[in-house]
Amino acid sequence: MFCHRKEKPHGGSACKNPPRSPGEFPFRRLRGGAGCDRLRRMSDVMIETLDLHRSYRVGNKAIEVLHGIDLRVHRGERLFLCGPSGAGKTTLLYTLAGLERPERGSVHIAGADLYALGRREQARFRNTIIGYVFQNYHLLPELTALENVAIPGAIAGRDATAAAIHALGRVGLADRADHLPAELSGGEQQRVAIARAIVNEPKVLFADEPTGNLDSKNSGEIMKILLDLATEHAVTLIVVTHDHHLAKAGDRTLVIRDGSIHPHAHAS
Ligand code: ADP
Repeated sequence: MFCHRKEKPHGGSACKNPPRSPGEFPFRRLRGGAGCDRLRRMSDVMIETLDLHRSYRVGNKAIEVLHGIDLRVHRGERLFLCGPSGAGKTTLLYTLAGLERPERGSVHIAGADLYALGRREQARFRNTIIGYVFQNYHLLPELTALENVAIPGAIAGRDATAAAIHALGRVGLADRADHLPAELSGGEQQRVAIARAIVNEPKVLFADEPTGNLDSKNSGEIMKILLDLATEHAVTLIVVTHDHHLAKAGDRTLVIRDGSIHPHAHAS
């Protein structure tokens, strides 16, 4: 996984006995009704954060971005994060994915205390358990689609080519394997970025504004790919989007505002 943002982080700490919060899954909604079978599989917690804090210093002014975020996301859940520009969506996603250490608080993923892991352990954990689709694709321009997708597989010591071909097939791009990013449309580049994020079959997939640069047809297709991956492979999916209409396709939508998370109005 690649990191493209921001200054070096600070230390973190762990807590016990988490409080219930707006970030917790609404269990009452799981009883009966459409989609209940799939939701029933969300029996355990995949991501749990406690009291996450993050701020930035610009000159002598501190910008507090995350003010003690408590969040639980369940295995196989499809969570959308909305909120105004600058609210801290990317900062939260980076912090959840192990790319930006919080100043205070902890992130547990699949039972591991992410920021308590050693540097190499954490890198290995991110490479195998977490997939991340960055804003603006972040493909390496001199490598073909296949080579871009193969990178995380090679780092993990897998048969990178076979895994990359399989991943490109899953996003419907098997026939574009030899193309350079510049020879692909925006929607196709985003598919390559998704294939790269899933090549190691992660348990958790983060996507930051994956449809931000796409037209409505491509947006719908990309969102369907992400949702299908989550549904068919029980991947926990967390998507940042400004598109409240697309967000309705998930299991839950949260809004980040003033450094805190709130349930979205359409979720009630
Ligand atoms: P969003 O994804 O919701 O648009 P971000 O998480 O990117 O918001 O940013 C949240 C706030 O943190 C913004 O006010 C942004 O300017 C600020 N910020 C992000 N990164 C840095 C940085 N490296 N240095 C200073 N401020 C930053």
